[in-house]
Amino acid sequence: MKVVIIGGVAGGATAAARLRRLNDKAEILLLERGKHISYANCGLPYYIGGEIPSQSGLIVQTPERFKERFNIDVRVMSEAVEIHPSLRTVLVRDYAKNAEYWETYDELILSPGAEPVKPPIPGTGDKRIFTLRSLSDAVKIREYILTPGVKRAVVVGGGFIGVETAENLVRAGLKVSIVEMGDHLIPPLDYDVAAEIHAYLKNKSYSIDLHLNTAVKAFYSREGGISAELTDGKILEADMAILAAGVIPDTSLAESAGVERGGRGVILVDEHMRTNVPHIYAVGDAVEVKNAVTGQPAYIPLAGPANKQGRIAADNICGIRSAYKGTQGSSILKFFDITAASTGLNERAAASAGFDYDKTYIRTYSHATYYPGAEQMLIKTVFEKKTGRILGAQIVGGSGVDKRCDLFAVAVRAKMTAQDLTEMELCYAPPFSSAKDPVNITGYAIENILTGKVRQFHWNQIPAISADENAVILDVRTEAERKQGFIANSVHVPLDELREMLRKLDKSKAYYVHCRTGLRSYIACRILAKNGFDCYNLAGGYVLYETVTSGLAQ
Ligand code: FAD
Repeated sequence: MKVVIIGGVAGGATAAARLRRLNDKAEILLLERGKHISYANCGLPYYIGGEIPSQSGLIVQTPERFKERFNIDVRVMSEAVEIHPSLRTVLVRDYAKNAEYWETYDELILSPGAEPVKPPIPGTGDKRIFTLRSLSDAVKIREYILTPGVKRAVVVGGGFIGVETAENLVRAGLKVSIVEMGDHLIPPLDYDVAAEIHAYLKNKSYSIDLHLNTAVKAFYSREGGISAELTDGKILEADMAILAAGVIPDTSLAESAGVERGGRGVILVDEHMRTNVPHIYAVGDAVEVKNAVTGQPAYIPLAGPANKQGRIAADNICGIRSAYKGTQGSSILKFFDITAASTGLNERAAASAGFDYDKTYIRTYSHATYYPGAEQMLIKTVFEKKTGRILGAQIVGGSGVDKRCDLFAVAVRAKMTAQDLTEMELCYAPPFSSAKDPVNITGYAIENILTGKVRQFHWNQIPAISADENAVILDVRTEAERKQGFIANSVHVPLDELREMLRKLDKSKAYYVHCRTGLRSYIACRILAKNGFDCYNLAGGYVLYETVTSGLAQ
């Protein structure tokens, strides 16, 4: 059997190695258009910033090592330019020899990845405007920022690649402007969770300024720099720009071979990664997947899924009927010293999939606060109201975000409910967690809502509640906390004085209670409810309200 693989990075290299492990006799040919195979594209931003100091640190496998260990014929600088499925042949362009030749195949795997979207902005042809896809792109950017006089950059797009690249440009000593068309950074997060990152950026005064709800209208080339004109009329002066406005599948070769594609050119595959063309498989950023939560078709380009799919394609070629069940979008990002992670559905996705959902916000610590070094995190969880099923989670904070989001990833995948979260028995000692881990606490909080022990209200309802004469916003924080800021027209009764004050409160009114994070106000709500008051707890507390609304004011 002869297998030709097109694309030698995440999906392609994984498929090649798995094929060899399953079949020692197969002839395996890996074609890669670029100079490198099997490099860590996820590490490219850190090479730009200098955290990964050498290119070799990013290269997982070389063609020579692949040959030596796996007996795989790897040809770099070799692009597949035509496929003839009826003859099972591929035309290869060898850039090193400037020649073309045909190769035959019994089975073909396409793993061509995705390319950066090039927004139709006038002026992007300037050589100081870059995109970041390959190691060669990263090398070009690194070389350019090391040229004397390069001090300012504009990053177009506030998604993962844009944000990671912005951080690394700052680390390399540049001032950076991020221009994002949407109202928040990192699209898999909801606005209220992303607001934590906006606030963090503002407080830390890193050399990054954020331009949300605006786009670059045009770039103008100047001697010694470029100007970016924004749709809100501002002009940003810079020495370079990075276009990080998303990716589109790189699938024109597949199209010319008659491979069926969907919207935006994604290759359509079955669960065994087979395309409609016999003997042609496709994996990775080029293919459409099933959203693992909704069951709907989706485009979620990530490294984990690409690797898994490469393995599955190899399995199927070797007669193992393994199947790809879907992608839930588990992703994580480091931004200076905070982490943002998410898995499953955010609110927008849950709403558009038609789920009758609700949400909780928990602000808690990475481990027992009496042990040094505990760091805060905000966990937003989206759950199905009827069943308590966990649909998704988003977490922003310091240490421990990654492990909590991974637990939620498992919960989402296994269709666990809030009750399952309460029952998870997790490793605990003070340096690592609390006896009730944040994931357990999330389960308890959701259970309290589902069983009617507490009713919530949300930050965006506050203007309407303030205007309602039958409603009272009750602040149960301490005097010292209130001095730092409060919701207009709220009434202040610290939690520890609430029982004494009960007889002075008007039972004909509805009480909208808040504390700093939602825990003390939950206790206040229990006291009020048990004494016959109509009451609601502010989800996420004053901190969330303040963070989100100060961002809106900006
Ligand atoms: P790729 O890994 O992109 O490989 C495709 C290869 O195919 C390319 O090298 C290309 O040159 C080659 N090719 C295309 N057409 C041909 C042809 N006709 N002939 C020969 N060769 C061809 N994902 C995460 O999950 N976490 C992260 O932190 C993360 N960070 C990222 C950071 C950056 C800067 C980038 C660019 C991506 C990041 N990703 C991340 C996404 C992740 O890298 C991709 O999901 C993954 O690499 C997709 O694998 P793939 O095999 O489909 O495509």
